[in-house]
Amino acid sequence: MAELEFHQFPCLSDNYGVLIHNPKTGETASIDAPDANAVKKALKEKDWKLTHILVTHHHWDHTQGIGELKSSYNCHVIGPKDEASKIDTLDETKTDGDYFTFGGETVGVISTPGHTLGMINFYFAESGVVFTGDTLFALGCGRIFEGDADMMWRSLSKLAKLPAETIVYCGHEYTQSNAKFSLAIEPDNKALTARAKEIDALRAQGKPTVPTTIGLELETNVFLRAGNATEFAKIRTAKDNA
Ligand code: ZN
Ligand code: FE
Repeated sequence: MAELEFHQFPCLSDNYGVLIHNPKTGETASIDAPDANAVKKALKEKDWKLTHILVTHHHWDHTQGIGELKSSYNCHVIGPKDEASKIDTLDETKTDGDYFTFGGETVGVISTPGHTLGMINFYFAESGVVFTGDTLFALGCGRIFEGDADMMWRSLSKLAKLPAETIVYCGHEYTQSNAKFSLAIEPDNKALTARAKEIDALRAQGKPTVPTTIGLELETNVFLRAGNATEFAKIRTAKDNA
């Protein structure tokens, strides 16, 4: 029985932090560490104690809080094997196909290179939740900083194969600008048009548009819907120049 609780909170200018908690064991993980103070505040609000940090990739807006959180909580830090040389705070490294246990649940590691070469995502199959870092966003995908379009397409295709009901937590609130771009690509997509309206309403109230689901992204995310690496590359380039 999945019994993990998930708590998302905004931090920095447009990042999301997420805490994962098992009320029985008391274990609590932070997905990335964008801002140590924001993570500490969220922990206090929930009255949870940090035991783990699960790191998706080396970028500063996902790692800068690790050192401070480690010294405050002596927590165990798990992150990408292929970026171990860039993140000096890792206690344990993981790569594609690895599994580990957190809070009594098996966590699957999925490598999704493209945004960075060593990016890993964390799949909680029992809870039906995946943490996609800066690979898959609501209505978007990460910029290709270190890899190439073929690589990013393969990474997104792996995530697309997860069960449709899988809940997707991603690293940033970029959804509204992604929606605007997406509507220019697929103006006749009714699901996308409806979703764009919902997103505008949520953002007008200052509410998050994340998490999303794999099923919703398959219906509305123009990057996932590209169909092949060549079409994907065209759309990614258009977005970079938008
Ligand atoms: Zn990043
Ligand atoms: Fe980021």
